[in-house]
Amino acid sequence: MASPNYVKQYIAYWLQLGKRVFVGNAGEILLPPRSIIKGDRYSQEFEKYWQKIISPEIGECYLEGTRETIQDLLSPNWDILPCARCQMPVALIHRGIQLNSCPCSDLGNWPNTELPKPRSPIDNSIHLKKICFRLNKSDFIQ
Ligand SMILES: [Zn+2]
Repeated sequence: MASPNYVKQYIAYWLQLGKRVFVGNAGEILLPPRSIIKGDRYSQEFEKYWQKIISPEIGECYLEGTRETIQDLLSPNWDILPCARCQMPVALIHRGIQLNSCPCSDLGNWPNTELPKPRSPIDNSIHLKKICFRLNKSDFIQ
């Protein structure tokens, strides 16, 4: 089962890339919070947004570009794991048929190392090291 915190992080990450959350079959857009992160925690606006998404009254919500509902993700059949392509959190089903892949599949400019990466409120000091690959041709001359 995907822990609610992972599902929350999944929503927070994708909102930071401009994805939206739809409600119900009509695809009504849930007005996104203006800020998601405030300092070392989620913004109050995002916390309210999250509470709204998971409230039983709202019905089915799903992330733009995905078919599984947030309610599905909170069920025992689903897990949140990093995408093989972009390392963003992706919903994966344990049983049955995978209906969809990472929401990044319709983002043409993604992965993009020039954009600030979506993040969690807790800074775990992950540094992206620039890989300098220098090919020394003399190594290959015998
Ligand atoms: Zn991806």
